[in-house]
Amino acid sequence: MQPTLADIYAAAKVIRGVADGTPLVPSPYMTDRAGADFLLKLENMQPIGAFKLRGAYNAVAAVHDASGVTCCSTGNHGRGVAFAAARRGMRAVICMSELVPQAKVDGIRALGAEVHIKGRSQDDALAESQRLVADEGLVEISPFDDPLVIAGQGTIGLEILQARPDVTTLLVPLSGGGLAAGVALAAKAINPAIRVIGISMDRGAAMHDSIRAGHPVEVEEVPSLADSLGGGIGMQNRLSFPMCRDLLDQTVLVTEDEIYHAMQVLYYEDRIVAEGACVVGLAAVLSGKVTLDGPTATIVTGRNLDMGVFTRIMTGQDVRLGDVTVKGKPYAA
Ligand SMILES: *Cc1c(COP(=O)(O)O)cnc(C)c1O
Repeated sequence: MQPTLADIYAAAKVIRGVADGTPLVPSPYMTDRAGADFLLKLENMQPIGAFKLRGAYNAVAAVHDASGVTCCSTGNHGRGVAFAAARRGMRAVICMSELVPQAKVDGIRALGAEVHIKGRSQDDALAESQRLVADEGLVEISPFDDPLVIAGQGTIGLEILQARPDVTTLLVPLSGGGLAAGVALAAKAINPAIRVIGISMDRGAAMHDSIRAGHPVEVEEVPSLADSLGGGIGMQNRLSFPMCRDLLDQTVLVTEDEIYHAMQVLYYEDRIVAEGACVVGLAAVLSGKVTLDGPTATIVTGRNLDMGVFTRIMTGQDVRLGDVTVKGKPYAA
């Protein structure tokens, strides 16, 4: 069953004091460039360094009488489930593919969860998670296709519109679509005229391709500066696909070069350390792919990045991503 605005208000109560209340700050540089107020919702300041704690905590808090929880995750959802389970005194087993950066694996172990590494794709990790459900009675928490997770992420939409009811556009990083579905549901329930745009990298944009096709499609998983946006939406997707299809006004794709530059902008202009996934909203505006019609907010979704890669980008060096190289360029406004 699709969540409703009431579920998002309920989630706001559940996560209060744990995963809510992040700052919404103006970006003077982006405001100047875009010709409209440009606001940053700083989910990088969450205790786990990413917004995923909202959905994960809301979902884990609803689990009773199970031997624990499990999920498959490219990193931040795993951290969220690990943190939430620890807070609630439950066992958590996080399943990941070999493509996930070591820093994210270490981060999850440090939160007290077990990590199982299986295969080279999200689908292999998912199979391991499903085995744990069948064999050990754990409850699986989907990173995006779960009504409680979507409701939890939707609380970001509530907070933005409570702080700035005049916002006309929301730019939402888009992968499995739990974030975009929840935020769009909250925002449009409060202000039906608001425009919600989902943004992904142009290589392996599963939700964008699926909306185009009219049904969930497989995409090839390729390394990206926006690694948190990688992975499929699940061929059996029940909720986040139809919600994104029906609620998003548009989906937009940005290149690795555009992400590289936007990461420099967020750091040098706003002094914020954030993942590639966070800057796709800035990249879409800076590249002219999205034009603004009023106050606009984007979500700085997380800060759990490889600091070696981050340093290379900030010093203008090339970054190798599998078989492609993103050409380095020193920052210039
Ligand atoms: C998960 C994630 C996203 C995308 O969220 P979805 O609900 O999968 O669309 C964006 N940014 C970061 C940092 C994430 O961890």
